[in-house]
Amino acid sequence: MTKIGFIGLGNMGGPMAANLAKAGFDVTATDLSIAALDRAVEAGCARGESVADVVKDADVVVSMLPAGAHVRSVYLDNYGVLANAKKGALLIDSSTIDVDNARAVISAATDKGFVMVDAPVSGGVAAATAGTLTFMVGGEGDGFERAKPVLEKMGKNIFHAGEAGNGQVAKICNNMLLGISMIATCEAFNLAEKLGLDAQTFFDISSTASGQSWSMTSYCPAPGPVPNAPSNKDYQPGFAAAMMLKDMRLAQEAAHQAKASTPLGAQSEALYALMEAAGKGDLDFSGVMKLIKGSL
Ligand code: NAD
Repeated sequence: MTKIGFIGLGNMGGPMAANLAKAGFDVTATDLSIAALDRAVEAGCARGESVADVVKDADVVVSMLPAGAHVRSVYLDNYGVLANAKKGALLIDSSTIDVDNARAVISAATDKGFVMVDAPVSGGVAAATAGTLTFMVGGEGDGFERAKPVLEKMGKNIFHAGEAGNGQVAKICNNMLLGISMIATCEAFNLAEKLGLDAQTFFDISSTASGQSWSMTSYCPAPGPVPNAPSNKDYQPGFAAAMMLKDMRLAQEAAHQAKASTPLGAQSEALYALMEAAGKGDLDFSGVMKLIKGSL
C-alpha cells in the first residue's frame, strides 16, 4: 500500500488528509497543532510526531502549509523533508505560496534527487471536504503522472500547468482575476441600485449579457439573485477577504518580479487591504460590496 506523509492539517489539509485515508492510503500525518492532529487521527490517519517522523517511510509526501516561509522551513531545515525523506519519494506541495519560493524549494529537492511538484488548489474547505478540489500542477519529468493518482483522491480536476512553479502561476493569476472581477461586479450592482434598478432585474439582464462572470452568476455579491452566495449570510465566508488579500499580494509580488503591468490588480489589492485594516478580513471577499457601498 502506498504510504503517504501529510504535513499541515489545517482547514484545508485536515479534510484532504482524511480523504486520502478514506481512499485506502496508509497516511501518517503531522501538524504543530495537537487539536488538528487529533482530528486527523480520528479521520483515520496515523499520528506523526514530527516532519522527519512522517516522511521517513513515505512513498509520497503531501504538504498544505500557510505560506512560503513555512514551506521553506518544512522542506529545507535539518529536521525537514529533504533531509529525512526516503530515496525516490515523490514530494507534492499544495500550499499557495510565491512563485520564487516554490521554484527554489523544488530546485533544492531536485538537487537532492527527489521529484517534486507544486500543486496549489482552487476550491475552499467545502471542496477539500467533498474531494472536489481543482489542482494546478507544476513540475518536470514524471512528477505530474506520479502525483495524479494521489491528487485524484482529493480533487476532481487535475491540470498540468507546465514547469516547476507554474501551478502557483496559474493559481495567483486566476485569483487576481477573481479578485478584480468581484470588485467590478460590486461596482456595477451598487451603481444599478443607486440608479433605480433592483439587483434581481440587473442580474437577469447582465447574467445573460456581456457583463456576466463567475463572480456574478455563482457568487453574486448583491443579496438575492444567487441564494447560496455569502451575500445572503451577511458575507460570512466562503473565501475570506484576508485569504484573497494574501493571493492578491502574491500576484503583485510576482508582477513586480516579472515587470508586468497589473494596474487593476494593484488597485484591487489595496481595496482588500482596506477591508482587513477595518478589521473585516474575516468577512467573505464578496463583502468588499460593503466597502463599495460605504457600509463596512
Ligand atoms: P490553515 O492555517 O488552516 O492550516 C495550515 C496548517 O499548517 C496549520 O494547522 C498549522 O498548524 C500547520 N503548520 C504550520 N507550520 C507547520 C509546520 N512547521 N509543521 C507542521 N504543520 C505546520 O490554512 P489552510 O486554510 O488550510 O490553507 C493552507 C494553504 O491552502 C494556504 O497556502 C492557503 O492559501 C491555501 N488555500 C486555502 C483555501 C481556503 O479556503 N482555506 C483555499 C485554497 C487554497
